[in-house]
Amino acid sequence: MSSALQEKSVNEYPAAGQPRSDWTLEEVKALFEQPFNDLLNAAHQIHRRHYDPNEVQVSTLLSIKTGRCPEDCAYCPQSIRYDTGLADHPLMPLEEVRVAAERARAQGATRFCMGASLRGPKDRDLEPIVEMIKTVKDLGMEACVTLGMLREGQAEALAEAGLDYYNHNLDTSEAHYPSIITTRTYADRLETLQRVRDAGVKVCCGGILGLGETHQDRIEFLHTLATLPAHPESVPINRLVPIPGTPLQDEAALDTLEFVRAIAVARIIMPKTELRLSAGRTDFSDEMQALCFFAGANSIFYGDKLLTTDNPGANEDAALFERLGLSVRAAAARTAGTTEAPPPTRTEAPADAPVS
Ligand code: SF4
Repeated sequence: MSSALQEKSVNEYPAAGQPRSDWTLEEVKALFEQPFNDLLNAAHQIHRRHYDPNEVQVSTLLSIKTGRCPEDCAYCPQSIRYDTGLADHPLMPLEEVRVAAERARAQGATRFCMGASLRGPKDRDLEPIVEMIKTVKDLGMEACVTLGMLREGQAEALAEAGLDYYNHNLDTSEAHYPSIITTRTYADRLETLQRVRDAGVKVCCGGILGLGETHQDRIEFLHTLATLPAHPESVPINRLVPIPGTPLQDEAALDTLEFVRAIAVARIIMPKTELRLSAGRTDFSDEMQALCFFAGANSIFYGDKLLTTDNPGANEDAALFERLGLSVRAAAARTAGTTEAPPPTRTEAPADAPVS
């Protein structure tokens, strides 16, 4: 039965076919629970139909405002409710953002993501952020921001500035969500995602595995992503990094093979989506990352820090890419700089960095 299902899954995706948004929970569950080798084989075959399997997209993430966030996300050291010793800073000056973006471009990043610890931006916050987006675009990179919930008209203002992606994660299943966040609802999140979509900005939306959720929660979380009216163009999948001082500080690490399974399922049910390995990679072995890339992950953040969690150094990633024969995907259309991205090279760590 599992092999038949795997064949069916592969054959549902002709090269020119469009992704489905009508997955049932039973189908996602059946995919998740296939024998590991069947699941990875199906995911990899689908991955090869839509992407060069030896190419990885590289993004860099910068915290443009860190800490003092009024939200209560149980995993996040940026919440004002938890004493984690995190150094906060207000919105970063434009010039510092420009320098960080230039450095990211020199390291091979094709997308520059900027995160601010906000419940949502006030209109007055948007003006300097619009300038940051324009600066990144002028450097020939794609621009992404994560600013929390958006109100009417704000997504349009960001789109007008040239924003390529807006990140807003669902984090987990709707059932598990109230155990993780109480200050905004799942419906709030879906509403922001719809605003982003309606404004014509690409959607970056994923979550975190290992938040104490059940296997069924992981099925439901992936099912929700794959049954949005349109699949997110980018899906970051994090594994929880427990931070002392947060409510999830003692959470046990999620089984690594369960994480790889989730990547494979995501690849099958969202075949054209970029799947990004995000927080948690410092705890992954090279072998586990290799499995994730085989299963369909094709994007990473590089830089020694994500928003607030550690990340492998760019030289470690370059060494891993070399071992695996992976290359960094060049920007589709750079308006400045080189047309070919160099491999990541070691530079100093960015200033403190955070994720929303
Ligand atoms: S994840 Fe984002 S919204 Fe939640 S507390 Fe952290 S910075 Fe605030």
